[in-house]
Amino acid sequence: MRIVVLAGGIGGARFLRGLKKAAPDAAITVIGNTGDDIHLFGLKVCPDLDTVMYTLGGGINEDQGWGRADETFRVKEELTAYGVGPGWFGLGDRDFATHIVRTQMLAAGYPLSAVTEALCERWQPGVRLIPMSDDRVETHVAVEVDGERKAVHFQEYWVRLRASVDAHAIVPVGAEQAKPAPGVLEAIAEADIVLFPPSNPVVSVGTILAVPGIREAIAEAGVPVVGLSPIVGDAPVRGMADKVLAAVGVETTAAAVAEHYGSGLLDGWLVDTVDAGTVERIESAGIRCRAIPLLMTDEDTAAEMAREALTLAEEVRA
Ligand code: GDP
Ligand code: CA
Repeated sequence: MRIVVLAGGIGGARFLRGLKKAAPDAAITVIGNTGDDIHLFGLKVCPDLDTVMYTLGGGINEDQGWGRADETFRVKEELTAYGVGPGWFGLGDRDFATHIVRTQMLAAGYPLSAVTEALCERWQPGVRLIPMSDDRVETHVAVEVDGERKAVHFQEYWVRLRASVDAHAIVPVGAEQAKPAPGVLEAIAEADIVLFPPSNPVVSVGTILAVPGIREAIAEAGVPVVGLSPIVGDAPVRGMADKVLAAVGVETTAAAVAEHYGSGLLDGWLVDTVDAGTVERIESAGIRCRAIPLLMTDEDTAAEMAREALTLAEEVRA
């Protein structure tokens, strides 16, 4: 079985770990979000690709959900001593090595997809990880700070401001001109199932879908497309997804997110048992829906969620 998953960072990576356990024989292709990418200290940092790679490769900081396990911050301390920031983005010493290798390869002319493949040689994530595009796409957020309207990089909004101010618009800068990375459209065309993990629907899955050709390829693949809600009990399980949902005019509920993807894209949707009351609304929107426990407290609960997603996919196929 060939499964394609559109993934952001933590929500995507933890789900993928469960999916690998639930479907050990499947060939899994992960299309990773690169809208979160940022240049820091002259280095190209790809937070979502790295979260997937480290999580599946056994190098993740489990408590945090991002960054390396057993990490130290000597380099960052030295940079701070030079007065060189930003200090708000936590790059650890081990993590720095990844960004150095990536930047060096990019400077040598390799596209990001080839660089990601090379980095995965070490981590052996057990999936094929492809960035959504080799072209630069950067999510910017329009905010108002002290009465002044301006656009900031997504990481500045998310990490420095902690989404403490309202987002007025989310713009994946460069997406319109971006081409899907080599292998992306082919993987979708050859897939038996497409899954949307409980990743951020706006700045993770939404950004991937903003690359021209990807949404169309999924809709035209003619295979079951099943998603899992990142919203449980009308709130994000982790993080501030409510802020970016509000920016695109979508209420923070499992049902509204399903309707936002729409029945033109989504065939099946899993909501948490606390949201069982919305199953009917989602089904009347033309999306097959089930309520099951959706909290990834450990690998086994994530695997159970993946099993349910695969079961729902077979149901809509029939
Ligand atoms: P990010 O790039 O690190 O923000 O990660 P993703 O975009 O992949 O996932 C973020 C989303 O995952 C957030 O909106 C969370 O609500 C959701 N999430 C995190 N943990 C869980 C979980 O255990 N269950 C569900 N249903 N959603 C989760
Ligand atoms: Ca992200």
